[in-house]
Parts: sequence; structure tokens; C-alpha cells
Amino acid sequence: MKLSALTAYLESLAPLNYQEDYDNSGLIVGNPDQEVSQALVSLDCTEAVVDEAIATGCQVIISHHPIVFKGLKKFNGKTYVERVVEKAIRKGIAIYAIHTNLDSIMTGVNARICETLGLKNTRILLPKHNLIKKLVTYVPLSHADAVRDALFNAGAGNIGNYSEVSFNTEGTGTFKGNEAANPYVGEVGKRHKENEVRIETVYPANLESKILMALILAHPYEEVAYDLYNLTNQHQQVGSGMIGELEIPINEESFLFHVKDKMRTHVIRHTKLLGKHVKKVAVCGGSGGFLLKHAIAAGADVFITADYKYHEFFDAEGKIVIADIGHFESEQFTQQLLYEIIRKKFPIFAVRLTEVNTNPVKYFI
Ligand SMILES: [Zn+2]
Repeated sequence: MKLSALTAYLESLAPLNYQEDYDNSGLIVGNPDQEVSQALVSLDCTEAVVDEAIATGCQVIISHHPIVFKGLKKFNGKTYVERVVEKAIRKGIAIYAIHTNLDSIMTGVNARICETLGLKNTRILLPKHNLIKKLVTYVPLSHADAVRDALFNAGAGNIGNYSEVSFNTEGTGTFKGNEAANPYVGEVGKRHKENEVRIETVYPANLESKILMALILAHPYEEVAYDLYNLTNQHQQVGSGMIGELEIPINEESFLFHVKDKMRTHVIRHTKLLGKHVKKVAVCGGSGGFLLKHAIAAGADVFITADYKYHEFFDAEGKIVIADIGHFESEQFTQQLLYEIIRKKFPIFAVRLTEVNTNPVKYFI
């Protein structure tokens, strides 16, 4: 299939506008029109992973971490980033990254950690803003149902567990077409009054062009009147970190044993244990330190993340146990997650998991 078919599907689950400002998710190397028959899935895209793609006949690498974060100014093979990009281009291998956009969804990196630890009643720890917009349009009574259907089918009207959400008020619209107009009702040059419905609904910002296209196709007027509003509402299903609960609270030592076992980590660096039972657990794969105050505010007993520095451990302040389980360890199941996502959607497309352990951190035990 075309590479764009694969990436479009991944972006329907984890849209690119869900990524953080500093991120570089998306197609980094490659042509969306190139044909691909096999993908290699990896947490990182290192030289060894590119070599593996070449050796196994994969035309695209899907990695969690983007190989390129900042602009590249020279390509003379001095750094592994330059060498990876150059080799991939020379060999015609595409590189696609699905990073903080995959972290942000309810079925992404953090959901997989929650599942692995057996957490229930999970929700996003810090929901994102500015992802939802509002559409208001004015439709003649005869076409109100058809327009609502078209908007809902294109992805508008979803709030939490509810779909087909809209608010409708009837009123009178007026318009007067000039000589060049071809009005659906009324006469050119005369003010026309029409009974209309004002339909209000919400939609995800990334679907805007699709939803406007559906509106214009379903609406009978030559000139469709509509208003688009930016909303500052949080999106409850998209954001950073997750929090969930253990079915049966256990003491802190037992919980850390559980984490060590399930997350296959050699060592957990943690703050002072508080002698309490663990019920609520906040998680963030990778560098999640910025979420500490949200984890505390949400009442988490333990915060599992990675990349903690010495001074940052002091911030626990006896209110929570910070447990740093290692960056690679916290995200290692992301490879399996991506593999399953692609497998399920494209059952006859070949996808393989990397055999390279890309963790740059080694433990001397
Ligand atoms: Zn990471």
C-alpha cells in the first residue's frame, strides 16, 4: 500500500496536532506516495534499527521517538542523527515518528502502562486545551436533519461518551442575492425571509476541513453561512499522563515490587516511602516530571515516570512517592502497542518488531 495510507490511519488515532510544541512527530524521511509492504516498529530509530530495516526488507520504520528533533544543518555523518537520516534517504527507507501525540491519547503509551500495572478507572492526568472547536450554522428547516447527519458522520458532535450532540434553535434568516447569485429559495434582488435552524455543535480541530466540506455538500444554499469558534475547554480524552486505581490497595513495598516485575525494570529510584497503602497511581511514560503537581493534586499515592534529576526528587515533599523506573522501561511496551495497532487495521500488511534493544542506558548490577 501507499505509505500515506498507513500514516493517515495512525494520525486518525493520534492526530499530529496532539503533539507538544517541542515535538517532531510525523513523516520525517520519505515520500507519502511511496509503496510499502513491510514496516519495522521500534521505540527509537538508531543506526542499528535502520540496518535491521535494510536487512529485513522493511521500507518504513515507525518509531516512537523522532530521530530529528531540531533542524539539521549539515549532513556529513558526524552524529548518529545525521548518519541515520542519510542512510535512510540513500536506501529509500521512510522514517515516521508517533511520539507525544501517541502519549496524549486514551489508548496510547500511558494507557498501556496502566494496563500493565492493572490500574482501573483511568483518566487523563492533565487534559489538553484548544483541541475542540465549535461550529454554528444556519440551515432551512427542510435540510436540518440532513446537515446534522452530515456533520455527525464527519466527526462533529462528540463529547465524552456522547455522540450526535447539538443544540438547535429556530429563527428567521434573511438574504438578498445580487445579479450573479443563484439562490436556492427567493428571488434575486429581493430580500427573502426563510425559517431556519441555528445548529450548534462541537468538533475536533484536526477534522475542520473534513467537517466544513461535509457541511457545504449537505447544505442547500449557494452561500453557506457558518461561524467557527475557538474554545478553551479541556479535551478530557487527550492530554499528558494518566491516573488510575489499584483494585485492592497494597503497601508501598509490595507495589514497587509489582512495578519492578511488570515493567521489567532493573532498578527503581524513588523518594521516601510514606508508610501508606497505595491506591491511586499516576503514570507518565518518559520524562514526566512536569506532571508532579498534577499527580499530587489528583491525590496519587505514587507517581511513576522517568528522567528524574536529584533536585527534582525533593519536590515530593512527603506528599507522594516519586518512582523513576527508567525512560526505556516506562515506554518499552509502546513498540508492542504500535505493532498491534497496525496489525489489527492492516492484517495482511507485514509488520515486525525490532530485535534491537535501543536503550542507551545500561545497568551495572
Ligand atoms: Zn520517551
